[in-house]
Amino acid sequence: MSFFEVVDPVFSTFVMGNAPVKEIASGFDWVEGPVWFGDQNCLLFSDIPNNRIMRHIPGVGTSVFRAPSNFANGHTRDREGRLVSCEHGTRRVTRTELDGSITVIADSFEGKRLNSPNDVIVASDGAIWFSDPHYGIMTNYEGFRSEQELPCNVYRVDPSGKIRAVLTDFNCPNGLAFSPDESRLYVADTGRMFTDDPQHIRVFTVGSDFSLSGGEVFHVIRPGCADGMRLDSEGNLWSSAGDGVHCIAPDGRLLGKLLVPETVSNICFGGRGRHQLFITATTRVYAISLNRQGAR
Ligand code: MG
Repeated sequence: MSFFEVVDPVFSTFVMGNAPVKEIASGFDWVEGPVWFGDQNCLLFSDIPNNRIMRHIPGVGTSVFRAPSNFANGHTRDREGRLVSCEHGTRRVTRTELDGSITVIADSFEGKRLNSPNDVIVASDGAIWFSDPHYGIMTNYEGFRSEQELPCNVYRVDPSGKIRAVLTDFNCPNGLAFSPDESRLYVADTGRMFTDDPQHIRVFTVGSDFSLSGGEVFHVIRPGCADGMRLDSEGNLWSSAGDGVHCIAPDGRLLGKLLVPETVSNICFGGRGRHQLFITATTRVYAISLNRQGAR
């Protein structure tokens, strides 16, 4: 059994023949939003339909970190190490302060409620960028079925708390990631369910005033679609896909795949030196050690 598929020979130097794609936790319904806390040696991730955030400590086990979680989806950490979370149930983005209290980062735009924030990243200036597709309000499975008040946009909340819609021409923006130098922003469009919307990753050039230009299709994931994504330190994009995790060069070429037996929703680098990739995939969480390092 192979855990990899090499498309470009360089990918064989990214993986190690004796490092498996290993299941580390199971028993969930739809896992998402992995985020690594190196200082606490643990991984947090969402089990969205079960309305909880889980914590996995390598070598120890997995337990509930927060329940109910307001149907939390994507997470990240800000520059001070605080947890930043997307919540479907409350249709907001929050920050968990170091004392455990919750601060609302965004829950509306121009007087209308957000849809169901999905994935979030924090730039080096402290600004919080997040996607707001409508998946969490379409049914009662991953939140509460409700009316959509806003288009499915990408927003930026600047360090003073001012929110701006920065991408407004997506069907359903989902995973997002910066290149290591933050000159590029990658955004996955997963389309509206049950339609033949395009599903692909687009790439934008980030201007000095945080305006975005370009936006061409960077890569089309097959099979399945791109959801969560992360960059390694050399600028290769690692994307979730229907058959595992795909590694894509900065020029958009597929270099290789990590093969995972379930549909992958999201990934994050972590472990000692950020050389491990944690993979949330439907009912289980997997991990693999790589000869790569996650971007800071
Ligand atoms: Mg997502």
